[in-house]
This record gives sequence, C-alpha cells and structure tokens, in this order.
Amino acid sequence: MTKKIFFIDLPKKVNQVVDLYGWVQTIRKHGKINFIDLRDSTAVIQVVGAEELADLHPEEVVKIKGTVALRGERYVNKNLATGTIELQAETVTKISSAKTPPFPLNTDGYEIDEETRLKYRYLDIRRERMTRNLQLRSQLVWKVRQFLFNHHFLEVETPILTKTTPEGARDFLVPSRLQKGKFYALPQSPQQYKQLLMVAGLERYFQIARCFRDEDPRRDRAYGEFTQLDMEMSFVNQEDILKLTEEMFTTIVEELFPDKKISQKPWPRLTHAEAAKKYKSDKPDLRKDKNNKDELAFAWIIEFPLFNEQRSQDFFYGSGNSKFAPSHHMFTAPHPDDLALLKTNPLKVRSLQHDLVLNGFEVGGGSIRIHQKEVQNQVFDLIGFSKEQKKQFDHLLEAFEFGVPPHGGIAPGIDRLLFAILGEQSLREVMAFPASSGGKIAVMKAPSTATPEQLLELGIKTDDHQK
Ligand code: ASP
Repeated sequence: MTKKIFFIDLPKKVNQVVDLYGWVQTIRKHGKINFIDLRDSTAVIQVVGAEELADLHPEEVVKIKGTVALRGERYVNKNLATGTIELQAETVTKISSAKTPPFPLNTDGYEIDEETRLKYRYLDIRRERMTRNLQLRSQLVWKVRQFLFNHHFLEVETPILTKTTPEGARDFLVPSRLQKGKFYALPQSPQQYKQLLMVAGLERYFQIARCFRDEDPRRDRAYGEFTQLDMEMSFVNQEDILKLTEEMFTTIVEELFPDKKISQKPWPRLTHAEAAKKYKSDKPDLRKDKNNKDELAFAWIIEFPLFNEQRSQDFFYGSGNSKFAPSHHMFTAPHPDDLALLKTNPLKVRSLQHDLVLNGFEVGGGSIRIHQKEVQNQVFDLIGFSKEQKKQFDHLLEAFEFGVPPHGGIAPGIDRLLFAILGEQSLREVMAFPASSGGKIAVMKAPSTATPEQLLELGIKTDDHQK
C-alpha cells in the first residue's frame, strides 16, 4: 500500500493527484453525477464522479484515485474540516465489501439498544460522536503526560497480577498455576505500589493505571475495570496536591475543550461537614445552571471523617466486628490536630483526604498518607484487622523502616473525568470496549468457560453448572 494520506491534510494538497483509502459513508446521486462522502479516521471528504461511483455501498472500503480540487465558493461547507475542497474521482477500487450495519451510524446512537451497540462496538465506534470521544480521551491523556513530565513526574508501571489492594470493593482473583490453590488479585488501585515507589525515592510518580473492582455498575461506575490517573508525590502537603491537580486540569480543559467554561477559579473548597450541611451531599453539583452542559463546576471536598461507621454492605473491612471502616482507604493520614482523638473518639477524627468533584460527580480522590508505622498500626486495629490481616501489609510497614518520605497523592478517573466534562450519558460512552450489564464484554463474549484441561492444570474443581 502506498503511503496513507490522511483526509485532514487534504486542504494542503489542492491540484494534486492522490490515492485515498477509506470507508464510503453516504452516496448521493444527482442525475449523472454521483457524490459520496468518504471517511477516514481524521475527516470526511466529498468525492465527485460519474459512472465510477455508481455502484458503491455504505461502509465499503475503497481506494479512490483523483484530483484534490477547490470547491466553488457557493459549495464551501464550513462544518467540514475539508469543506473547501473535494476529490474529483478518476478510478475507484473496491477493497472490502460491507454488509448493511445492524443500526444507523449517522446518528448520535443514544436511541439504539446499548447491548446491540456493544456487540457491534467496532461499528458503533464509527459514529462521529464515539470516534470523537476516543480522540478526546487520547488527547486528554497525552496532555496529562506532557504536564506531568514538565513537573518532574516519572511514569512507572506496577503489576496487574498482584495481591489484594483494599479500596473497599471485591477483588478479582486469578488462579496461580505454579502455586496451586493460591490466587493473584487484580489491583483495585496501585495504592501500595505507589507508596513503595516513594520509599524508593522517585518523589513524583504517575501511571495511567487500570484498576479492577468487582462491584455493580452504576451510571458513573463501569463494571470491572476503569482507568485512573494515579499520582503520588513526596515532601508535599495537601495544598501542594490540590494546587498541582487544579493547575493541570484547568490548563488542559481550557486547551482541549474551548466550548466549556469553568464556573469558578480557583475551584471552591468545602469541608465535608459544610457540603453535608449545605448540599446534603459529599459531591454537590455547584453549577449555576444545572442544565448547562458547557458549565464545569469543579470543587474540592476536604476534611472528611477518617472513619465511617462500618455497616453491612458489599464488603467488610477487618473481621467485621469493628465499628470503623476507613472513609477513603486505610492508608489515609488522620488530621494532625485530631491525632489524640484516635484513642478516645475515632469517629470524630478528620482526615487529610481530598475528593475532586465535577458537576455532581466524584471524579477523583486522594490523601496525604500515613508514613509512621505506629499510626498505621493504630488504624489497622481500629478497623478490626486480625494479626493475620495485618500481616498482609508487613511489606509496607517494613518499607517505612528504611527512610520513608512524607507523601500523598490523588487518582482522578480518566473515564469519569471525561464523562463528566462531556456531560455524557454513561461512562461507557467514553470507553472503547466497556462491559455491559452482567459484566459481559459483548464483542468477545467474555467471560467464558475454561476447558477441563485448563482447570486441571490450575488445580480447580468447579460445580458442573457451566455447560
Ligand atoms: N488509591 C486511591 C483510589 O483508588 C487514590 C489515592 O488515594 O491516591 O481511590
């Protein structure tokens, strides 16, 4: 194949003869003249021709040789990136034919049954809105990387096959073949690894981290896996973390989403108690006009209680006998003014947790961490950890004996942030292949049964209900 020409670059190639590769989007016939819209990943271009365009069908893949020509002034289309030009077709070669798609691709897609969209996600992504969402997502991540590299951050990958990393959800387990009867857990977040990287002396870490939590999906929560911008910094206080995060997202939003307007700068900060009293919510929607999709009301919520009363929900910390569950996670530092209360009235202890809220959605959370072994042990005791359970965290406490810097961080959700910025209907609208209800990955029909040989190799017996 010759060098691919991207349609977005065609306005610079007026009068040149080019080979274009792409998908036929629409066909319009005007007497003897035929027009097609030809699409590639970057733009759509109008192609004009006669006979040679006559028997094309939507979504076929073609090569069209032709001349890039300026359109007459009357025919300029300001809504198209290539609206000043068109391609005058000379020869057309069909590369792949296409069946009629199971649903229209020229709408925003919300009206189509979601299970069907997910089953044919590779077609669904062809619709303009979905392509655009994935492009924005990629650009968002690229700008995050740029910003963080300019602020002395290092990108580090941490294991996916790991041990339980409690963030308050159920783990996904992966059986180990080499150590039969043992299981890896997929990380709910890289929390402990990033803290260990601070002990390692890296000072500023980030990762575009996949996190796995086996909990029920909601509008703002995808099933199974999601992506966080996981960050950690040494020698910082809470103010430093909030400032850096705020500067990063303000800059990026203004560059990438020029139609959106951040309603208040600097972002307002509310204590958890204030938010509860004034808005009856720890993620209030502070937009002046709640129907305005272009208004972005970021806010920080701080001074959360360190513990909530442990209630019987999905998941229990500790043995289940203790009254206290961490409000964020068990590595979050207590507010230094409240340390004494840990002994007398734990539910009154405030923490150094910070939540990032946007238009009524929690889009990120973080904290200053405990870096003293004694305090960490005190928290473990309060949440009711047995000796055995505490042992699971020996590596962290041991690491703290080798010169640990004070540290803290945050993990804004990439899917969540984009979903809230765009005012999308669900998180799945900003993910390429999200799980559907019941945790199914529709395109691949995951999860699936394992073969008897695989199970034998893993030393696993199952009830025989998986026919
Ligand atoms: N690990 C935390 C979470 O996933 C984020 C953090 O504390 O940095 O919510």
